[in-house]
Amino acid sequence: MSRPAAAPSERPARAPATEPQPRAPMATGGEPPRPRSPAPASGQPAAARSTEGPPRADAREWSAARKLDYLREKNLGNCQRCALARTRSNIVFGVGNPDAEIMFVGEAPGQQEDRQGIPFVGRAGERLNLWLDMLGIPRDHAYIANVLKCRPPNNRDPEPEEVARCSPFLRAQIRAIRPKVLVALGRFAGCLLTGVAERPLYQMRGRVWSYQEEKLDARIPVVVTYHPSYVLRQGRDSPPGKSDADAQVLTDLRQVVGILRGA
Ligand code: SF4
Repeated sequence: MSRPAAAPSERPARAPATEPQPRAPMATGGEPPRPRSPAPASGQPAAARSTEGPPRADAREWSAARKLDYLREKNLGNCQRCALARTRSNIVFGVGNPDAEIMFVGEAPGQQEDRQGIPFVGRAGERLNLWLDMLGIPRDHAYIANVLKCRPPNNRDPEPEEVARCSPFLRAQIRAIRPKVLVALGRFAGCLLTGVAERPLYQMRGRVWSYQEEKLDARIPVVVTYHPSYVLRQGRDSPPGKSDADAQVLTDLRQVVGILRGA
C-alpha cells in the first residue's frame, strides 16, 4: 500500500460540453460504459466525427485516473438512465486513489453524500475512517464508490432496474482501478460483486469470493462485510468501534489486510 495518493476523481455533477443526451436504457447485463468518442457537434460531417475521441487501443493504455475521468465526464455525464436522476441533488461517482489496492463498494448515496457529491461522508464515512485507522490503512490508499450513483428517495433499497442500469458504471470503475481486493459494504454490493442472487449478508461474510466479468482479464478477491450505516444502527449504545458489529467488520477487514499482504 505504498502507492502515491492521487487527486480524487469525483467531481460535482455538471453537464460537460460533450454531454451525452439521454440514451436508450441499457438492458441487464448489457454493454458497460467505456471510453468512446464525444457526442458529435451538430451538423458536423461523419468523416470528421470519426476522428474524434481516443482509439480504443489507446484508451486501454491510459492511466486509471484518466480512465476514471473519461468515464465520469463522457460516459456518465448528466446521466438520466433511471428515475433517480429526477430526485438526486448530485451524482456521487467515487472518491479516492485511482491506483488503489483496495476498493470499497457501498450501496447508494445517502442524504449527505447526495448533498456533497462525495461517497461515505457523514457518520458512515467517519466510521469507515475509524476502521481504516484501526487497521493502519490510510484512506487515501483506497477508492470508494457505490453501486448506485444517485440517492434513492428516503434511502430506500435500490430497485433491481436501477442496479441494472447503474452497475455498468461501477464495473467500469473496477476495470479502470483493478484493485487487489474489493470490499463489499452491505448486502446489495455483496450480491453484485459476488454474483450470487438474493442472500443475507451474514451468509456472505467469512469467506473470500471472486469478482469476475467478461471484460476483465483477472479475478479480484472480494470480502463482504457490513455497511457502516448498519453498524451505527446496531451499536448505538456502544462506544465508537466497540460494538459486536464493529468487531465483525474488523475481523472481515483483517482478512482484507491478509489478502493485501499476500497471505
Ligand atoms: S442511479 Fe445511475 S443509472 Fe440512475 S440516473 Fe443515477 S447515474 Fe444514471
